[in-house]
Amino acid sequence: MWTVDDALQKLVATITPLGVSQVPLSEALGLTLGADVISHSDSPPFDKSLMDGYAVRAADVTAVGTSLKVIETVTAGRVPSMRVGPGEATQIMTGAPLPEGADVVIKVEETRRDGDRVVVQCGPPTIGANLIRRGTSVRSGACVLSRGLTLNGARIGALAELGCAHVTARRRPKVSILATGDELVPIESAPGPGQIRNSNVAMLAAQVTAAGAEAMSLGIARDNRDDLLSKIREGLQSDLLVLSGGVSAGTLDLVPATLAEAGVEQVFHKVEMKPGKPLWFGQFCGVDRSASVSSASHSAYVFGLPGNPVSSMVCCEIFVRTAIRRLMGVDPPTPSPIFAKLEHAYSTRADRPTYHPACLTWTKEGLSVRLVPWHGSSDLCGTVSANGMVFLSGEARQFQVGDCLPSYAW
Ligand code: AMP
Ligand code: MG
Repeated sequence: MWTVDDALQKLVATITPLGVSQVPLSEALGLTLGADVISHSDSPPFDKSLMDGYAVRAADVTAVGTSLKVIETVTAGRVPSMRVGPGEATQIMTGAPLPEGADVVIKVEETRRDGDRVVVQCGPPTIGANLIRRGTSVRSGACVLSRGLTLNGARIGALAELGCAHVTARRRPKVSILATGDELVPIESAPGPGQIRNSNVAMLAAQVTAAGAEAMSLGIARDNRDDLLSKIREGLQSDLLVLSGGVSAGTLDLVPATLAEAGVEQVFHKVEMKPGKPLWFGQFCGVDRSASVSSASHSAYVFGLPGNPVSSMVCCEIFVRTAIRRLMGVDPPTPSPIFAKLEHAYSTRADRPTYHPACLTWTKEGLSVRLVPWHGSSDLCGTVSANGMVFLSGEARQFQVGDCLPSYAW
């Protein structure tokens, strides 16, 4: 059986990041830059005031009470028409260009207006105070954002400042999600005897979307070869196909065999973890030996997640999210634990390494964590008070209050 770390490494080594394209800035949140971004202009583009006040020559303000003649007013978006000479001041607003001759802005709060004159009520100012010189933030020709950066709000704002209406970025992966099981009914339906609602597709679509990919639901495939095969073929048009159910040892667990028939090669099956042991991962390189018509070459990656909802959810957080990050070029793609102090004592039996649903809280002392009551991999509703999970390494252990445990936020 694969360890989680080995399986994650294998996953990353198997997946090739997607290609780059030109993406409108408004659609670029969470994408990874595919090229360095060079500024073609200085920012700010002119010397500008950072305050509402008066632009003056520092040398003129020798003492509290200096009186200067106000020669004009410049608001943001306008340009000064006059040079500030000895004994003169220009009333200036935040964001307006600094007039020639001036080398400091006195805040309006430190002045008193007296007709066409202004009285400065502070002592000699420091040259350059309350203004920013052209190009202080960015020089024309400088690399402002490097290839590989993931775009967040601030970076998108900086790109907008530089005039990038489009960016070169790795495209967003398309992820198809397919539930399998004869017992499943759509969530709008009332389950009949022996039936349950298909909760996994809604859950996985939400997780995949939160990871930055584009999720598409393929609904439910029944536990028979023909239905599975046709829906798997449809899903292989995507970059990633995520199935839930049908990967364990039941007589109707047909997913691995049907994936093989569709031309998907197994990379690993079964990972030493709880929940999620039957996890299956494979690669499709565009050759479907059982298809009557050969489809155009297209590669895709495929997960078969165990059907129990918490197994599906945890495998998605750890493995599907890593695959999406790798496809998007995020570095590192693998999950990084955050360490949290246990709020209560807890003893574990010797078992598989376990991801236990938990509630993480920021306190004055740092991050703390509390395991939530949970009845195992089918108990999805038991996880709703959790906002993450704690990793328990699998040896029998007695944890004490304050022990630091690796945790993952959802
Ligand atoms: P399986 O992995 O197919 O053996 O399914 C394991 C358990 O998960 C069974 O109790 C299934 O009924 C349940 N299950 C499978 N798929 C789903 C789904 N899409 N939504 C909710 N429960 C599911
Ligand atoms: Mg099943």
